[in-house]
Amino acid sequence: MIQQAARDFAQNELLPGVIERDDEQRFPAEQIKKLGELGFLGMMVDPKYNGSGMDTMSYVIAMEELSKVDASASVVVSVNNSLVCYGLETYGTEEQKQKYLPRYASGEIIGSFCLTEPEAGSDAASLKTSAVKDGDFYVLNGTKRFITNAPHAATFTVMARTNPDIKGASGISAFLVEANTPGISLGKIDQKMGQKGSHTCDVIFENCRVPASALIGGIEGIGFKTAMKVLDKGRLHIGAYSVGVAERMLNDALHYAIERKQFGQPIANFQLIQAMLADSKAEIYAAKCMVLDAARRRDNGENISTEASCSKMFATEMCGRVADRCVQIHGGAGYISEYAIERFYRDVRLFRLYEGTTQVQQLIIAKNMIRDATA
Ligand SMILES: Cc1cc2nc3c(=O)[nH]c(=O)nc-3n(C[C@H](O)[C@H](O)[C@H](O)COP(=O)(O)OP(=O)(O)OC[C@H]3O[C@@H](n4cnc5c(N)ncnc54)[C@H](O)[C@@H]3O)c2cc1C
Repeated sequence: MIQQAARDFAQNELLPGVIERDDEQRFPAEQIKKLGELGFLGMMVDPKYNGSGMDTMSYVIAMEELSKVDASASVVVSVNNSLVCYGLETYGTEEQKQKYLPRYASGEIIGSFCLTEPEAGSDAASLKTSAVKDGDFYVLNGTKRFITNAPHAATFTVMARTNPDIKGASGISAFLVEANTPGISLGKIDQKMGQKGSHTCDVIFENCRVPASALIGGIEGIGFKTAMKVLDKGRLHIGAYSVGVAERMLNDALHYAIERKQFGQPIANFQLIQAMLADSKAEIYAAKCMVLDAARRRDNGENISTEASCSKMFATEMCGRVADRCVQIHGGAGYISEYAIERFYRDVRLFRLYEGTTQVQQLIIAKNMIRDATA
């Protein structure tokens, strides 16, 4: 049912205007509002906070369907669900959950997740944004970079250092900061290669005073742990939408190959084209199995840090290879924006970069392997 609902929404609501939104770098505001009304923005949030209360399996299936049509809208949905709602529901105080989760889940507001800084990307634990306690307030100073949804967000989940004496992860805390708090300014919207309907920019904190009640969970020092747990989940979702986009690209390439004739016959008859179709099909199948298996394990209560990183790494790299082959199958037409493959080729390049690059996934997987073998 959820697959069909997501498929219908993608066809009826995301498909019209998807090319124009990309051309004009336009945020899909109306579509996001409707997704909220249908329960897609708080899919796994407990119904007691107005969420849809679904499991991970349902969520990844929905993400696959949405991403087949509009990768930008899928990212907005993913950030709100996995980075914003999940972090708050898992680590927030009851008061914080009651105040914000119903509003995120209904799409009344969306949030952003602020971890990356100009000098802290892959090495996120070295972040410098500070949060200094001042009576019943914290004072935030620092700059966050490439923040998805920031120009449209009502709240920022901000990772900041509350203890400057601890240089690593345990000096970091997480705050839920309202976007209209004095002392916050936004940089100009980044000009991106793809996913142009999803906006990112810098978020700058200058002597930004937030009440102590903004500290997520009311406990200092668990911010980095919170961020990493949240990213485990986000990575699985990026794996899911890599599978969705790859399926869409391959479907387009297959139909193009059947229709396009050269040397007096459909190019689909040529074995070199068939090899590209077959390799793509097999790789998508492998990635899909990984994502669904990791989702099932998560729903069974297993720690899926390794599986989420494996799925993200394999699925996003697979998606890049499939995008490249599908442009090749389209020939020159694949380089022209009239065909959806041109947009998807640009969109999918990002999958291998955000929420931990491929190299960072390799480091996580190997670190977990070594830890388990030496425990
Ligand atoms: C469009 C977009 C949206 C984003 N949205 C968000 C968001 O909403 N919130 C947020 O907090 N962040 C966001 N990011 C940031 C993103 O997560 C980072 O860009 C990413 O983690 C990589 O960090 P970096 O860009 O600083 O690259 P760097 O860390 O500088 O990496 C550069 C290269 O070095 C490699 N490298 C780094 N360290 C190692 C190592 N130890 N071993 C081997 N290779 C290494 C990397 O893999 C990469 O190839 C977004 C980025 C983009 C582009």
